[in-house]
Amino acid sequence: MNNKLRKTENLLSKQIGIIEKFCNLCKIIKPVSDFSFKKTVLSGFVPRSACKACRVLEAKNWRTKNPQKSIEYFKVSSLKNPNKHKEWLKKSYQKRKENLSDSYVKDLLIHKTTLTRSQIPIELVQAKQVQLQIKRFLENQNEKR
Ligand SMILES: [Zn+2]
Repeated sequence: MNNKLRKTENLLSKQIGIIEKFCNLCKIIKPVSDFSFKKTVLSGFVPRSACKACRVLEAKNWRTKNPQKSIEYFKVSSLKNPNKHKEWLKKSYQKRKENLSDSYVKDLLIHKTTLTRSQIPIELVQAKQVQLQIKRFLENQNEKR
């Protein structure tokens, strides 16, 4: 999360006087900065009932359970807000690239082949991840010199 957003959330939590909050899903008391806020008409900003980590997990589970709906939702949102969608795609790609996510590495491996992501064995993905980590490490060392 960017600093500006964090600042806003800290400010909001001070305004509503809550520092910690109980997450309804993982049943853990967490700092209020671990929760996102929703805007309500009556009380302004209130933290959501589940923490960010749980909400991310929940969304992931939903996508796995409803792949067709998920694709449709994705299409609709891309049509409604093409610019926002483009921005999101860009960010998501950057994140996958930074973290060397499985899907990013698979895309690298199938590039210029007729293979699909599902045909790439996980061992190959892991080996490629290590190779990329070494490459990045060496590049970093070079820059420092
Ligand atoms: Zn939680």
